[in-house]
Amino acid sequence: MADFERLPPSGISVIIVGAGFAGLTAAIECDRKGHSVILLEKAAELQPLGDIISFGQNSSRFFDKWAGVREELNPLVHKSDSFNFYDWTGRFVTTQSFAEEHRVWGPRVNGHRGEIHQAVLRHARARGIDIRLGCNVVNYFEDADRAGVETDTGERLTADVVLAAEGVRSRGRKLVLGFEDKPQPSGYAVFRTWFPTDELLKNEKTRHLVANGDSHNGWIGKDVHFLVAAIKDGKEISWVCTHRDNGSIEESWQFPGKIEDVLRVVDGWDPVVQELVRLTPPDRLFDYKLVFRDPLPTFVSPKARTALIGDAAHPFLPTSIQGASQAMEDGVVLAACLDRAGGPAGVPEAVRVWERIRYERVHKIQKTGVTTREQWHKADWDAIWKDPQSLHLKREEWILNFDAEADAYARYDAVREQLEKERAQA
Ligand SMILES: Cc1cc2nc3c(=O)[nH]c(=O)nc-3n(C[C@H](O)[C@H](O)[C@H](O)COP(=O)(O)OP(=O)(O)OC[C@H]3O[C@@H](n4cnc5c(N)ncnc54)[C@H](O)[C@@H]3O)c2cc1C
Repeated sequence: MADFERLPPSGISVIIVGAGFAGLTAAIECDRKGHSVILLEKAAELQPLGDIISFGQNSSRFFDKWAGVREELNPLVHKSDSFNFYDWTGRFVTTQSFAEEHRVWGPRVNGHRGEIHQAVLRHARARGIDIRLGCNVVNYFEDADRAGVETDTGERLTADVVLAAEGVRSRGRKLVLGFEDKPQPSGYAVFRTWFPTDELLKNEKTRHLVANGDSHNGWIGKDVHFLVAAIKDGKEISWVCTHRDNGSIEESWQFPGKIEDVLRVVDGWDPVVQELVRLTPPDRLFDYKLVFRDPLPTFVSPKARTALIGDAAHPFLPTSIQGASQAMEDGVVLAACLDRAGGPAGVPEAVRVWERIRYERVHKIQKTGVTTREQWHKADWDAIWKDPQSLHLKREEWILNFDAEADAYARYDAVREQLEKERAQA
């Protein structure tokens, strides 16, 4: 095994399904804690897919624990520390500065999902983690002592615990919930893109967005918001446009969008926005439907040998800006709880403690996605012109200035005792 900081072997074996940020973080953190890990991923090749993704200070701190990752990310991530708000016609409203929170809470990481994912994947590989690509898990099972998975080739693998980190269309949910959990359309979708800025630089209307290095701007309209980030010293740009949508296609990060559909949504808007849309390469535009799922009653299977983590347990709206961060916190906290399990026999208790530590925090943060969307989409503009800062993103210390690993170790014993007490009273 590669020579990285690692606790002595715990004797606990872990199978993780899905190599997104939840699965990769869980794999790296389990490896750090001395658990033995197999990571199964359906894709035959992990390509640098996606566009903009954000990690708050609560998760960007994890990159620092993984030797070399922060250094890889530094040249890739968005550098400005302020955000300019405009109304849909292009009238400037307010600038929100993040400089103070960067100074006190540390840096955020905003960048290309695929590039950041590749950096984390390289670290996982360098650690020598057993990552098996092209393994499509189709079934989960467990008994009191072991949990297991079956792949579409019929291979069966077992371990002390299985973590289902397969994203929004998780099959692990069926074992955990005992039924199929059907997503419903949320009524919203996001047009998304990322592309080089050469053409924007030549155009008078869009030049200012990219000519002075990184910048971050947002236009807010009725039931629509349009956010633009210039990255890599203004050489690349990403924009996302969240709007009403009643389509019923499945959520997919690669479903093509149409420029004319976006232009219809921003009809009558600031000419800067319209020009930016017109200059977007059509083959780089995607249309991501946001689906809604009721909060799950539990993240843990009946015998507590299988846990759902990341989007499989709790998909987030993009307006929470916490989906990837909470996926990472899940993995970090689970690895720490397993560290306190004292060996394979203690796994179910550790998994239940993990769920209790995570459940309330995750659901409280999930709700902020709706609050922010409503704050922007249903804005009372008379009130905003009197108090422009009411448009600012709420930056809450309990979410962002938070060390999930330290918190898990600090609370583990108290939560375990509480669960014991509840069991005795039941
Ligand atoms: C291709 C892709 C592009 C994305 N682009 C963006 C983006 O641009 N911006 C953004 O904010 N978020 C994006 N996301 C979502 C974002 O990464 C997640 O919302 C968040 O990071 C939580 O991650 P997760 O690990 O829980 O889920 P995911 O990131 O969805 O990862 C789940 C992983 O599990 C694998 N998997 C699924 N089913 C199985 C199975 N049966 N067997 C084995 N493996 C399986 C998937 O291939 C995937 O690698 C993207 C996700 C994906 C998969």
